[in-house]
Amino acid sequence: MRECGRKCVSVGRHVGSGTKGRGVMSIRRDDAFEGIVDEAVSTKERAEMSASAQRFALIFWIRKSVLAEHRRLYLYADEHPEAAQELVDPSIRLSERARSERSWNLPAGWVRIINGLHADLSCLLGDYEVAYVGQNAGGLRFRTSPIARGGAAERIGVARADSMAVCTVCGGTARIETPPRSATRCPRHPSSRPDRIVGAIARPPGWTMKG
Ligand SMILES: [Zn+2]
Repeated sequence: MRECGRKCVSVGRHVGSGTKGRGVMSIRRDDAFEGIVDEAVSTKERAEMSASAQRFALIFWIRKSVLAEHRRLYLYADEHPEAAQELVDPSIRLSERARSERSWNLPAGWVRIINGLHADLSCLLGDYEVAYVGQNAGGLRFRTSPIARGGAAERIGVARADSMAVCTVCGGTARIETPPRSATRCPRHPSSRPDRIVGAIARPPGWTMKG
């Protein structure tokens, strides 16, 4: 990989105390999530529930709230109490088609992989756009416009191989689960019942937290 003189935009974490407004959209810190357990589960129920059961109850309650409020079946990273919170490099550009067809399906746990990939592709391809990002058979699926070839395609292959050992939820060490699902998850975030933990999608590039 050749050296790149380009200085990429630094990437921050959204750990602000945005607790104003309604709904889970504005709740991002762990302590804020802790606060809404009371809303999800009554005090009596909570006393009788194990810590693990409270955890599931909270995440599913958040999911239900997001569905009711935003008509979405998935959670964004900032809505998920256990998802990796690193933000996507805002200099990543999506193709027009990708923006209109919702081709942005990057698991929260793979943001670090994508940011590294983007830094290298910026050098290899110059100005390029992301046409699709998501997961396939437990690994990263990433398409660019123009189509990546040669070294750029090889670099995407490296990112895909890396992703197969990184939890899509928290970014921790993981393995690909066996069918029926082909998700890459750590032991704490299985994708299948009975301990299934809902996944999370990273916010698209340029998203900013609204307090
Ligand atoms: Zn995990």
